[in-house]
Amino acid sequence: MYAPDNEDCANFEAEVLAKAMRCLGNDSASLETSFLHYLYNTFGRQLASPDYYQFKALSFSIRDRLMCQWKQTWLAHYRSGTKKAYYLSMEFLIGRSLINNLLNLGLEESVRQALHALGIALEELEQAERDAGLGNGGLGRLAACFMDSCATLQLPVMGYGLRYKYGMFRQRIQNGYQVEDPDPWLRHGEYPWEVQRADYTCVVRFGGYTRMYKEPHSGRLIVHWEHAEEVLAVPYDVPIAGFRNQTVNTLRLWSATSAEDFDLSDFNAGSYFEAVAEKNDAEAITMVLYPNDASENGKELRLRQQYFLVSASLQDVVRHWKRAHGSDFSRFAEFNVFQLNDTHPSLAVPELMRILLDEEQFDWDSAWAIVSRTLAYTNHTLLPEALETWPVTLLQRLLPRLLEVIYEINGRFLSQVAMKWPADRDRLRRMSIVDQDGRVRMAHLALVGSYSVNGVAALHSRLLKEGLFRDFHQLWPERFNNKTNGVTPRRWLAAANPALRGLLNETIGEGWLTDLDQLQALEEKTYDPVFLERWHQVRRHNKQRLAALVRERTGIVLNTEALFDVQVKRIHEYKRQLLNVLHLIHLYARIKFGPAEPWTNRCAIIGGKAAPGYAMAKTIIKLIHNVAAVINRDPDVGDRLKLVFLPDYNVSAMEVICPGTDLSEQISTAGKEASGTGNMKFMMNGALTIGTLDGANVEIREAVGEENFFLFGLRAEEVAAARRNYNPQALVEADTSLRQVLQLLEAGHFNQFEPGIFDDLIAGMLSPADPWLTLADFRSYMQAQQRVDQAYLDQPGWMRMSIINTARSGRFSTDRTMRQYNEEIWHLRPIQVAPLMTTARG
Ligand SMILES: *Cc1c(COP(=O)(O)O)cnc(C)c1O
Repeated sequence: MYAPDNEDCANFEAEVLAKAMRCLGNDSASLETSFLHYLYNTFGRQLASPDYYQFKALSFSIRDRLMCQWKQTWLAHYRSGTKKAYYLSMEFLIGRSLINNLLNLGLEESVRQALHALGIALEELEQAERDAGLGNGGLGRLAACFMDSCATLQLPVMGYGLRYKYGMFRQRIQNGYQVEDPDPWLRHGEYPWEVQRADYTCVVRFGGYTRMYKEPHSGRLIVHWEHAEEVLAVPYDVPIAGFRNQTVNTLRLWSATSAEDFDLSDFNAGSYFEAVAEKNDAEAITMVLYPNDASENGKELRLRQQYFLVSASLQDVVRHWKRAHGSDFSRFAEFNVFQLNDTHPSLAVPELMRILLDEEQFDWDSAWAIVSRTLAYTNHTLLPEALETWPVTLLQRLLPRLLEVIYEINGRFLSQVAMKWPADRDRLRRMSIVDQDGRVRMAHLALVGSYSVNGVAALHSRLLKEGLFRDFHQLWPERFNNKTNGVTPRRWLAAANPALRGLLNETIGEGWLTDLDQLQALEEKTYDPVFLERWHQVRRHNKQRLAALVRERTGIVLNTEALFDVQVKRIHEYKRQLLNVLHLIHLYARIKFGPAEPWTNRCAIIGGKAAPGYAMAKTIIKLIHNVAAVINRDPDVGDRLKLVFLPDYNVSAMEVICPGTDLSEQISTAGKEASGTGNMKFMMNGALTIGTLDGANVEIREAVGEENFFLFGLRAEEVAAARRNYNPQALVEADTSLRQVLQLLEAGHFNQFEPGIFDDLIAGMLSPADPWLTLADFRSYMQAQQRVDQAYLDQPGWMRMSIINTARSGRFSTDRTMRQYNEEIWHLRPIQVAPLMTTARG
């Protein structure tokens, strides 16, 4: 436990800290002073500067205010000698931070005033911030929401990730096809929300070989990892502010750089090029985020990234521990827990073993006793293509010492299995960490090394136990638990939907911001005509905001009276954007060939990125564009139907999209979407869901009641059964609507001058082997959409359902999720951070 060497010293530190922030008042005059100081004195600009510099000046002013609380938080954690959790994740999809920081620090109004006095609108500065897109989709965004909630709950949790120089690519559309542009989010020089901490740099090693020998006196086995290539991991810290509670936690992102700027011997020998190339090799590790969502690509550089994250982070924690405890690790597991966000950081298991064995001279059993009480694993997917395995040959070359440790872990694990199930060779084969093709199963490695394993929604966690991890569940049932995902209501309701925030504050007070269950009080208002009208106004305003975004990005004008029907998420076959398109083609066919009455006007918006190597997903994007072109240009269609593909879907786009949505499309093949979090953002903002019983949809439907949810499609169990004798052709023959849709597609109605481009896509749907059973759910989906049309005609009724969706979204706050992680896995104590006195407090 931490006991600062000297209490007086810490007190003195606190006094000095108070002095350091004397000039940092939170009133608008102080904020104006800071802003002008940065704009003029630091950046050498003036008022008439591009928005970006103004944004930067404001962000630095806010960062100054964060900095003191950040220090305070660090001091509070240090003094309390508390247990800490570390969230290891290859992705943190942060998005913008200015609005969020203003909201959480409670500075929004004074900043608005300060800027107003200078003739600047806060909203414009906010737009100048680039998204920190250090993630692909749900998994990375979840990590960012977790960080927000942990700080708000005052939990001592630190995030560890990678500082990719290029984040998620930016999507551009050319002739209906996705084009990927790099995302140079750091190009304007500094990212205002990070602080480099060069003094905490670590060395991470790759390659080389191991040498073992017995120590002559003790007979101990000593292992040396020699001739390794060394790469420096330089940390950049991002402050994560809690909601008005003085807590500022840390997200530490590692950046790779060469151990030596230039190898001087190469340089002197005239090998200038080789010397620089080596530096670039090192820097390549954190050059770019792999843009694959829910699939692995097996590239060596990806494995390097994973080890780089794990090794630097573990070394960091161990170093911190040793500074206070020397080499006494007896209580290490009591004070440290690492949560693995999917299998990507699974090398934490052998790496922590390596550190304890080789660097701290532990024997195997003592080291394993620590490791196996310190790690916890979150599974994010059941999709077989997403389950990571790495060839032992690659590990042998890149991380020879870790491979030895993995073999030893596996040997000991398998003998444990053999004790419990003697002579069950098939079980040994199924459970082994190393498979028969000589590949390391990262999920098994994580399972064996962790004391907790969780899925991310009730259904998903059940399917894990019954299917993928069945054998492991039989061995260690007590390790398995569920933690249904959530989203942070600060970003996804308060910041993204200021109009609704205002109405909520006025109606039920501000308590909901940290206790989202308080939204339940809205239910009393569902028959209050004045409130219903206010709700309607808020929704109309948000639809106008979304329509403006669509117009700005696509030129297409939407009628905001129409039903806004939205599907935004990564483009993937299992998410079934195709099913959505089939339905839209069906609506188009009804307009063209009847019967078109009764009718509900509809604007369908689809957005999302395809992994650059995922051909089918890219064809789906092209299909959406071609169908949109036909629908939007047809004078017979008019206002009745519009289809737009909104390019470059990201966090800040979602902040405009989810408040402006009437109907949220959550239509994945049942059993495929682990949880989903987009579904929760929509619900919280008052959209109704059309969805299958998949992931967290199940729990959303439970919360809002079946009468407030448009359910369709096969259930997970039925999907498994249907696959056995699936006959899509027969479905087409039996269904005139579906037949009409497929005839249009097959006749090339949407690709008259581009023959054949959709053939694979059509053949996929018509194949009895279609894993996504798209056509199986068409009829049921179409009928559910008819119920949607009907319901939307009754606007007061729709508003009531909308209110109920928001009112019952409390359980989908990550505050609830984090409380459960803490109570059931981490067992941390919340740490209060005392407010610091400032002389000019606003
Ligand atoms: C919430 C979110 C996601 C996850 O969406 P799902 O519908 O759950 O797949 C992906 N990308 C962004 C930018 C998000 O904000």
